[in-house]
Amino acid sequence: MRKKKTYQGATRRIFRPELTHCLECGSRLRRAATVSQRHVITFSEVVQVIHCAYRCPQPNCSGHQRLYRSAQADGLALPGFTFGLDILLWVGKLRLAEHRTVDEIHQSLSERLAPLSQTISPREILFLFEAYIALLRAGTEVGADDAWREQVRANGGMLLSLDGIQPDKGNETIYLVREVLTGRLLTAENITESTKQSVKDVLAPVVALGLPVLGVISDAFESQLQAVAELWPGTPHQICQFHAIREAGRLIYVLNHRIKTDMRICMQEKTHTYRQDLHRRMRTAAAQERSQLAVLETYAATVEGALNIDGIPPFGYGGLAMQEALDQIHTSLAQLEKKGRL
Ligand SMILES: [Zn+2]
Repeated sequence: MRKKKTYQGATRRIFRPELTHCLECGSRLRRAATVSQRHVITFSEVVQVIHCAYRCPQPNCSGHQRLYRSAQADGLALPGFTFGLDILLWVGKLRLAEHRTVDEIHQSLSERLAPLSQTISPREILFLFEAYIALLRAGTEVGADDAWREQVRANGGMLLSLDGIQPDKGNETIYLVREVLTGRLLTAENITESTKQSVKDVLAPVVALGLPVLGVISDAFESQLQAVAELWPGTPHQICQFHAIREAGRLIYVLNHRIKTDMRICMQEKTHTYRQDLHRRMRTAAAQERSQLAVLETYAATVEGALNIDGIPPFGYGGLAMQEALDQIHTSLAQLEKKGRL
């Protein structure tokens, strides 16, 4: 009897399409349906996946029938699978590349899943391995699937997602190419170097399908951008939003960090000397002067604290926060001066 899985501590996550606007008329897409609601176990976490599909809201738009899915949600696990693609690929690799027995795989997988309070049976491992073999055949099978071709034609073409997964540390990457609008896996390939040519090789079976390509979603590494531009010139290529935000944030963050460091270098020494001087004067000052010096000391300590404000990438800018804090201190000092208390 199979034990029912429990998913305590699962992270609930809502997935929406990476594309936010209609490819035909440019209208903002609206939520149309929940494609799936399921649990996925990956090496890093247990996720409760809520996958929402969107649609163009214009009834007379030629793209109105097209349902947009999230490539990221489809990339977590194969349809009908609870164990994630990362686990599936790892099983395939251990079995085929390292010739491990099912028992050995079972033992090492159980160890890796233990921190998540998850288990896997030898039967499930065999099942994952069969799926891995099927994955490697996917490219040849999809071409002969007339119902699928018909669906692609109705959508006006394919929206491709290019996803490189590293099952284990090392330079081996398994490339998965999926058609996002139908959620269909087109091809899976093992590569050890990510050059323009190797990406083109991975995409060769997709080219051979001879179907129009509406757009491409990827992590947008240089090699991927070049390969796609050569295979399908002029096709829109959207960067995975997570990577885009991280990359966009990096530039500003680095600049901001540099400014922050300059400000700190410029002020730290002075503030430190000033405080030491204050401490010296406080030791010998009369009571009234000492209480005045104590006020200045509080200000100086606040300035020193502001100089140590740190940022959190990608969007927490330490330099800006530091400047705001110093501005506040400055305003407060200016008010004191106006009232003649200094
Ligand atoms: Zn539209």
